[in-house]
Parts: sequence; C-alpha cells; structure tokens
Amino acid sequence: MQLVTFIADDRRRVGALLDDGVADLTAAGLPADMVELIESFDPAAVVDATDRAPRRALGEVRISAPLRPPKNVMAVGRNYRAHAQEFSRSGFDASEKETLPSHPVIFTKAATSVVGPEDPIVLSNDPTGTTDYEGELGVVIGRRCRRVTVEQARSVVFGWTIVNDVTARDLQKRHVQWFVGKSPDTFCPMGPAIVTVDELPDIEDRFLETRVNGEVRQRARIAELIFGIDVLISTLSEVITLEPGDVIATGTPEGVGIGFDPPRYLQPGDVVEVSIEGIGTLRNPVTP
Ligand code: MG
Repeated sequence: MQLVTFIADDRRRVGALLDDGVADLTAAGLPADMVELIESFDPAAVVDATDRAPRRALGEVRISAPLRPPKNVMAVGRNYRAHAQEFSRSGFDASEKETLPSHPVIFTKAATSVVGPEDPIVLSNDPTGTTDYEGELGVVIGRRCRRVTVEQARSVVFGWTIVNDVTARDLQKRHVQWFVGKSPDTFCPMGPAIVTVDELPDIEDRFLETRVNGEVRQRARIAELIFGIDVLISTLSEVITLEPGDVIATGTPEGVGIGFDPPRYLQPGDVVEVSIEGIGTLRNPVTP
C-alpha cells in the first residue's frame, strides 16, 4: 500500500493513496500521525479501513511530508561509486580521507529540515548561496530494534520513500562536520508517499532519477549503492536503537550540482523532481 499524510479541512490526516484519490484512514478511525500508525501497524486493519474510509479527490487535499521522524534523519555520504568520485574531484568534502569509503559515512539532518512535496526549498536559509540537490531512496523503519543482522534487516523495514538531501555546500565544507550544511530549514523534502515493503520488495532493481527544470541530472539503479540497505540497517542498529518512523537516506548517485565545473547550484525559480519507479515523484520549487 501507498500511505500519505495529508491536510484537509485544516487537519492533518493519514491516508491510503488510490488511483482515484485518497482514502481518509483517519476518518475511518486510524491515527492521524504516520509514526503512530507505523508503531501499531496492522495490515488487515488498514485494508479494512481503506475499504470503509471516505474518499477525497487529490485536488481537495494537500500532501505533506509522510512523517517527522523521532530522531534526526540519518543519511549516508558517498554511497554511489561515481558520486564518491565526483564529490572527491569537487574538493568540497573537508572530511575526506579516501575516495571510496571502507565503512558507511553516516551523518544526520535535523528533523526540523523535513518538508513535504511542493513545499519550497528556501535558498535564503543557506547564507553561502551554494545550495545543491541530492535525490535519494529513504528507508522507513517499522519497528524498534537493536543489533539487527544483515540477513534480518529487511524484516524491520516498514517501507520506502523519497528524500532530497538538499545541501549547503560551503557550509558542509566550512564546518567539516556535515550537520550544519545538511540541516537548514526546508532542506529535507520527503515523500510523497511511503510504499510498504511488501508492495515493492525489489527496490534494488528500481531506478532513481533527479531532474532540475526537466533536465535529467541523476539516474542510477538503487542496486548501485556501495553499502546496501541491509548493511546500513545492520551498521546503524549495532549501536543505535532504531525506532518506528526513523528514516535512513541511503545516499545519492552521480550528477549533483557540484559535479559540474563550474558548479550548478539551485537558483530561485528552479523546480527539482526526484522520482523512483514504484514510489512516485517528489517535486519541490526553489524560492529565494
Ligand atoms: Mg546525501
């Protein structure tokens, strides 16, 4: 199933995305908060609620970010080979010791940076004027867990979403640690939906594509990840308790703005779209 958080009648609700609109699961008695829904997830109850729920046309609702995770968004740097090489060439990675990492490079983005589809990426939140896009697969964790093995990892995944790991490049470089450059408000567009893992078990075979004003900038198969989804979950959960609603942004492929010479930073009026087959398209305008 494809689950969304949406605003209708000035109230936040959780819905199931259907061909002809959204089934209002909150009106059918399920939680209005996606993290609560994931914590108490009962597939049969959601199917039953979808059948009973009032339908709303897509034009009547505003889709927001699917959730605000319980901790900062966890994210992975330099996790596609060609991107690791372009990032290294750009000179923007002040923490780099080797072009291809031997262990996952993990950082976080402030939870307050999360916005939804169609929400603007606000350039003035980056005082250095070096705002860049990074289209990524987001993994949504389904249950509280620790010390998950690679073999068990898929069992703790709730579903998949799309994340744009928007980055202030000069801040990323200047502060060495990436947290500041990755965390300005509006710099984590997420959505539009969470697709449950049972509906999209072959996520590694799907293509991710990022377009700026319709021009394709990034295109890669998820399988090209250096450290795959299950390894990331195992690595993180070895030391951190993962919780329902936690999000792992798995890394971005080649084709970011700093991969060009000169760099092609986002400009006011740009529109960034990140698509993953089977999940949808996350579209955000860029404003001053
Ligand atoms: Mg990234």
